[in-house]
Amino acid sequence: MSDWSEVTRPIPVPNALTQPFWDAAKQGVLALQRCQSCGHFQHPPYPTCVNCISIDLQFEAVAGKGAIYAYSIMYHAGDKRFAPAIPYASIIVELDEAKGALLAGNLLDAPYTDAKVGRRVEVVFEPLNDEITLPQFRLAEGG
Ligand SMILES: [Zn+2]
Repeated sequence: MSDWSEVTRPIPVPNALTQPFWDAAKQGVLALQRCQSCGHFQHPPYPTCVNCISIDLQFEAVAGKGAIYAYSIMYHAGDKRFAPAIPYASIIVELDEAKGALLAGNLLDAPYTDAKVGRRVEVVFEPLNDEITLPQFRLAEGG
C-alpha cells in the first residue's frame, strides 16, 4: 500500500472558475459545475457549457460515487514530493450522476494493483491545509 504520510502535496491554487469547487470540498461536499440550460455536468469548470455553449452554469452537489474510467500506475516520481508513495495509482473517475465530468485523483487505502477500469469508487476528502481540501477516492462497496 502506498505511504502517503510522507508526501507533501502541491497545493492547488483556486481561480474564479474553480473557487466554488474548492469551497465545497472544504465542507466535505463534492460539487461540480452543471449547465442550467441542458443539465450537463462538466469538470474541470469552464466559462461555457461544453455541450450547448450556455453560460448559465451553477455548482451542484453530487454523491461522489462512480467508477474508475482510466488509471495510471506511477512507478517514478517526476515530482520528488511524491517519491514516498511510489508506486501509486492515479485514477480518472466518472461519477454515476455526472457522466462526462471526469475527476482525477489517487486511489487511497488500497494496493495500487486494485486500480482497474470499472471498479467502484467513492470520494473521500483529504485536507491539505486550512484552505484546501482535496477530493480523493477509495474503493466503494462492490468495488
Ligand atoms: Zn448546456
